[in-house]
Amino acid sequence: MRSRAFAFALVSAIALAGCIDGIENRSTSQGESLTPTELNQPTTPAETVVETLQGGSPAEPRGRTLDVGSVEFRWSAVTSSTGNAVQSRILINGAAQSSCGYQAGNRCTVEIARPGTYQWQVQSRSTSGLEALSSTVAFTAVKERRVLLASPPSESSGLHPDIVRSAAERGVVAWDGYDGWQIRMVTRADYNAYGEFVKEWGGHRVGVAFGQQIFQIGLGDSACNGKWTPYNENTIYFIAAHEMGHILGVAHSSDPTSVMYSTMQPSYAAPCEFKSGSADVQAYGYTHWNRHVPTATNYHFAFDPGADTSMKFCILSQAGNDCTEWVYGYRQTVHLGAGDYQFQAHCGNWYYTCTIQYRIAYDT
Ligand SMILES: [Zn+2]
Repeated sequence: MRSRAFAFALVSAIALAGCIDGIENRSTSQGESLTPTELNQPTTPAETVVETLQGGSPAEPRGRTLDVGSVEFRWSAVTSSTGNAVQSRILINGAAQSSCGYQAGNRCTVEIARPGTYQWQVQSRSTSGLEALSSTVAFTAVKERRVLLASPPSESSGLHPDIVRSAAERGVVAWDGYDGWQIRMVTRADYNAYGEFVKEWGGHRVGVAFGQQIFQIGLGDSACNGKWTPYNENTIYFIAAHEMGHILGVAHSSDPTSVMYSTMQPSYAAPCEFKSGSADVQAYGYTHWNRHVPTATNYHFAFDPGADTSMKFCILSQAGNDCTEWVYGYRQTVHLGAGDYQFQAHCGNWYYTCTIQYRIAYDT
């Protein structure tokens, strides 16, 4: 407003000056006096403000080693010296990130999927079109699972805690190299996955993974006549390997031979104690059943048949290898005389031997 009024006044003055032929000091008929001094009054030029953008220094991550995955980038807020609105985006190795386009804030999350060394920077722009680019800052991403394994509980008698730990560690590091992952067992505080042991869940579960950071490994169950029996090394190894697979984001496999199959048949470190004279033996898992029967009696066998309704099983004396009396079904009472027996169970058709009769799920 002010400058426009001023310009108008100046034009008027020039017009007047044109009338008076020169810029000498003259008097008008009205007695008005115009002087060169007045006409040449230096005019203050319209303020020329050079807009600058301040801020935008990349803060985090800066020179750090971090894990692949979601990374939050932060930088100092960017402001315009003239008060214009400013938006910023980040560039990683010079490339704009679709998840972090121009925005008003000063933090944004990008998924860094691959390990490597990166350079990142902040690019800002004002509503006036002014742009600014920060210097670059480096960081390193590693694809690494550093696993901290809790000590096996002391009550897990049956297997020495060192054996339990060793078996679990072998299962964990079995994934080393899978899909670019590096698996390290650590005892320090910088772990990013944590495993612990559970003596028993009491149901059909031998292990579980919560998300991709915490997992639990079962140490035994009470399928043997209600008495807790420890799993053997191999079972602990498989449970640990299965749950570690989940930690790396591996889903269940439909292949029954895969460690990522959703169920398994545990093996035990100690034989199931035969309840002498009992008429109610639950033969969960035929590997339990290699027992001396002291006196003739009836034994009740109950199985979890799963989807297999054609299950059959057989009790055979330890002396012979042939099974001559198959019992169909999964809940039977069998009379046995005194002697040594083994138990065998098959499923499916006669010629196809399915040695897995009782499965326990890893998860729920
Ligand atoms: Zn699972």
